[in-house]
Amino acid sequence: MNLEISSLMWGLTIGFAAGSLIVALLWHLIHKHRVREVLELGAIVRSNLENLFTDQPLRTIRRRRLRDADPIAVVIDDQLLILRDQNADTRRQVKQLRIVLESMTEGVVAVDSRLRVILANPAAQPLLGIEASSLGRLLPEVIRNPKLLQIASDSVDQCKAIEAQFPLSTRDSLGRTVTRLIAVRIAPILRSLEGERPVSKPMASGAVFVVQDVTELRRLERMRQDFVTNASHELKTPLASIKLYSESLLDWALTDQDHSREFVQRIEEQADRLTNLVSDMLSLSRLESGQELFRHSPMVIEPLLRARVASYRDKAVMKNVGLELELHKLPDQLKVLAADEAIRQILDNLIDNAVKYTPAGGRVEVHAGLYSNEWLEIFVTDTGMGIPRSDLSRIFERFYRVDKARSRDLGGTGLGLAIVKHIVSSLGGEVGVESREGIGSRFRFTLPVVVENPKPQAAETSDLNKTKP
Ligand code: ADP
Repeated sequence: MNLEISSLMWGLTIGFAAGSLIVALLWHLIHKHRVREVLELGAIVRSNLENLFTDQPLRTIRRRRLRDADPIAVVIDDQLLILRDQNADTRRQVKQLRIVLESMTEGVVAVDSRLRVILANPAAQPLLGIEASSLGRLLPEVIRNPKLLQIASDSVDQCKAIEAQFPLSTRDSLGRTVTRLIAVRIAPILRSLEGERPVSKPMASGAVFVVQDVTELRRLERMRQDFVTNASHELKTPLASIKLYSESLLDWALTDQDHSREFVQRIEEQADRLTNLVSDMLSLSRLESGQELFRHSPMVIEPLLRARVASYRDKAVMKNVGLELELHKLPDQLKVLAADEAIRQILDNLIDNAVKYTPAGGRVEVHAGLYSNEWLEIFVTDTGMGIPRSDLSRIFERFYRVDKARSRDLGGTGLGLAIVKHIVSSLGGEVGVESREGIGSRFRFTLPVVVENPKPQAAETSDLNKTKP
């Protein structure tokens, strides 16, 4: 009995011990598995946190068949997803801001209250000489212009926006000094740069300046002012003559047969001059404002060339100036893409000048030939007085004349070459001049050829084509 009891006790003990062992083993196995899972979870969280600020994708924990009973993992997973979305938003906004700043033609620079550069967009670099390496440096170390430094510190110290325009010299990539007229608007930063708090006045936490290169704008403005001044002057001169002659007629010359006729002729001349001037001014202003003045379409060039040269025949003969047209291997029926009227205005201005500025005994020639398959080039050359080298670069400007009095005497408006330049440019061509004082001038312009047959057959040169209008 005792033996039975003791063997039962023994059996129970062994059974209990074995059960405990199995439970412990199971617990150990489950625990070991959990520990590994938690460790894996930790590794994922760590790599996700590291990747949160890079472009690497996050490993979502949810995909790993999480047990619902794992609240910590679920919380971590949720927080990571929120963080990931917020971070993606922030990165997108920063990227957009950077793209906007990089696309601006105006330079944008921000400094803190100590005038340390905290931001500079690419456009600011050539304008102010601020480079990427300038970030973090003090403004006076980067910019030497005292005016700019003064208004930057005034804006911060006095908490006020300041606008100014002044010339600023910087060095370009080749080390050359470039001086530009710049317009700057500096606004104080009225919030703390570290947070949302507004700054305590009267000092700002920094300043932002927007810088613009206004050199070209100022040049155009000056040109416009010059145009108004010149135009008024040009209009005043013939008007003054008309007034003088009409007053003389009214006072005494009306009854004087000889004088009255001469004075009326003078009035007519001045009225013609005014008409030419106003019509040139209108054409030029329409051309400059980009209005479609001409309807360009394929046109055969040769008859127009002959006609325009022929129309100056009388004038040239009267001045005893030779006038010739030469067509160099010009294909028959060669077409250019231009309006009849546009070519007429170009040729008339150039041939008229050539005849006008060439003394008796001289010669004017118009040459036309293919420059390439796509371009026709036309030269108007003369053996006239020529243009001084110092004036050559300016003669295509409005109202620019080498000799004002001579041009006026010859009926010039000073606008012809400006009109020529605009028309040729609107056709996509080039215009230029070579000249030597006392020897003569050679004006050249190109016109776009209409390529119908890619291989234009070479026409006979000279004698057949050579024309003496
Ligand atoms: P203008 O009506 O005075 O001729 P343009 O604009 O046609 O005005 O020409 C500008 C200036 O260029 C002229 O005043 C003249 O001084 C100079 N010029 C133009 N063509 C010639 C030329 N063939 N020979 C010499 N000078 C020329």
